[in-house]
Amino acid sequence: MPEMEYVEPSSLSEVFDAFDRYGEDGRLIAGGTGLINLMKQRLVQPAALIALRKLSGSLGTITSENGSVRLGALVIHRQLEASPVVKQHIPLVAEAFGHVATIRIRNIATIGGGLAHGDPNLDPPSTYLALDAMVRIASRSGSRDVPIGEFYKDYYETAVQPGEVVTDLIVPNQPAGAGTAYIKFLPRTADDYATVSVAAVVTLSADKSRFQDVRIALGSVGSTHIRATAAEDLLKGRQVSPASLKSAAATVAEAVDPLTDVRGSGDYKRDMAVVWTRRALEQAVVKAGGKLE
Ligand SMILES: Cc1cc2nc3c(=O)[nH]c(=O)nc-3n(C[C@H](O)[C@H](O)[C@H](O)COP(=O)(O)OP(=O)(O)OC[C@H]3O[C@@H](n4cnc5c(N)ncnc54)[C@H](O)[C@@H]3O)c2cc1C
Repeated sequence: MPEMEYVEPSSLSEVFDAFDRYGEDGRLIAGGTGLINLMKQRLVQPAALIALRKLSGSLGTITSENGSVRLGALVIHRQLEASPVVKQHIPLVAEAFGHVATIRIRNIATIGGGLAHGDPNLDPPSTYLALDAMVRIASRSGSRDVPIGEFYKDYYETAVQPGEVVTDLIVPNQPAGAGTAYIKFLPRTADDYATVSVAAVVTLSADKSRFQDVRIALGSVGSTHIRATAAEDLLKGRQVSPASLKSAAATVAEAVDPLTDVRGSGDYKRDMAVVWTRRALEQAVVKAGGKLE
């Protein structure tokens, strides 16, 4: 690797100073689990690494506030997975983090790094989409909130602009009585990425016979994580039954555009997305108190 500078700012204002100094040649590094891989493959070659680790006091906390959970960008995956606040209010997110690679990776990778990486194969983003999270991004001129549905632009491309830092992810508490599921098809090793992954949030009517609200998001099925809105719309107000789940899941085939790669052909992954969506919905319905027979 070519020589590069390494700086460790201890405040956001010093991070912005470093951006001014290095411009587009400077690159933020949090856990480094994604960036170092890109550097090894020479896909990025920064002249300076701007390390965020000294900001883990201010950006490394999890708090419950105003019906949401605020996750600081430097919270590591393992911290989130074990957090009582996360388990209580947004258990779907804790569940997805438990599926990320190995404990060794989860002890290093951060929430903000995972967001800004913009890799459509990651586990947690489907749960952020299914729960309508908001990403807080800071720059020298202030901070802005970007709905997660507008955050992902393309492969490894997000709404984060040069000179900006992801500071927080704000996730609304799961709806009372909702059933949720995060499932991932992982046929190879534990630290591989999903062939397909699905997050589902299901709220049923009081007598548990009809769908009141449904939210479905998928990973590893295209250039970004996606919401399966056609499937959601088809289920809302409909009777809970295996047939309704099957017909809703079938619509996912039209919504996905998976790449052919080492994990399978695009056609195979499209079929898997349909099957996996149905299974995630089945689990979420049962957890919401519904019956499928
Ligand atoms: C072998 C292996 C297997 C893995 N398997 C999985 C898996 O199955 N599922 C999964 O979800 N994840 C998995 N991961 C982790 C995932 O691929 C990313 O590496 C991780 O989410 C990135 O987090 P990080 O903190 O290490 O980010 P970094 O590598 O430090 O940074 C990633 C990118 O984000 C930028 N960045 C970092 N922090 C910020 C910030 N606060 N604001 C703006 N930009 C920022 C960096 O400049 C860089 O471009 C795996 C990683 C490895 C190494």
